[in-house]
Amino acid sequence: MQWAVNSAVRVPSSHGGSRWFESSTAHHFFIPFWYMPFIRGNLPFFAFSNFSQFPFLKHAIFTREGGYSQEAYASLNLSYTVGDIAENVSKNLEKVKNYFKARWLVWTHQVHDKKVLVIKNERPTSSYTGFDALVTNQPSIALLVKLADCQGILLCDPKKKVIAAIHCGWRGNVVNVIGETVKTMQREFGSEPKNIWAGISPSLGPCCAEFRDYQTLLPKTFWRYKTKNSYFDWWAISCMQLQEAGIPEHQIEVARICTVCDKRFFSYRRDGKKTGRFGAIIMLKGDEGDSRNGEGN
Ligand SMILES: [Zn+2]
Repeated sequence: MQWAVNSAVRVPSSHGGSRWFESSTAHHFFIPFWYMPFIRGNLPFFAFSNFSQFPFLKHAIFTREGGYSQEAYASLNLSYTVGDIAENVSKNLEKVKNYFKARWLVWTHQVHDKKVLVIKNERPTSSYTGFDALVTNQPSIALLVKLADCQGILLCDPKKKVIAAIHCGWRGNVVNVIGETVKTMQREFGSEPKNIWAGISPSLGPCCAEFRDYQTLLPKTFWRYKTKNSYFDWWAISCMQLQEAGIPEHQIEVARICTVCDKRFFSYRRDGKKTGRFGAIIMLKGDEGDSRNGEGN
């Protein structure tokens, strides 16, 4: 299995990725999140260890490193709508697509809502608009969400071979795009939530998630996730919503890396409007991808 390569070279992240973690809300234990550095000119990426048991699956959380963009967008910016040179974004997307050996790389113009794009067609287009989650049971279609502090939540149902990628900022939590995505997997593909595994990407951490107007912005059910003053633990809120949707706690992995603190990632809160978007990607391997796959991704 290709992930065995990762296991041989994995190194702890700067936030201590090789240890077991306990969340700030107690009784949540998380398994480590892997970092794969540059190897033979490849892109560096992070990976969830709970997905490594599924040989039919590929996924990665890329950093901002390894691409063509310059200055504020240096270098692996995957978004056309943040002011970067389009040609560089195209080259970055192509690099990611080739890296995944994907037949199609699919993303959506994300709008902080809860609409879920279901891909059953084997020939999707690459870009859609108005969706914040993508679900498919088709191989060789890499689902991409673009991030700068928002959570990229990847889901996999190994029984039905269904995957999902969710873009979830705080507005996504408020409208519960997570629950909506799990419901869509149930309705469209017969997934049972108890069989679904989940990973939450690097994103805005409890250390930096200040919401001074939380009393007007956030529902009361979120208030118990306040860590200090007006700071919130959005990782714990997403864990709660995943479990509320029926996903068992031990099948949820949280990267526990804050994108504002960790400069390997783009961060809207840290850098403002002029910054890029990094990618969280998941794909079911196709036959073609399997036979050509020799790079451990
Ligand atoms: Zn932080």
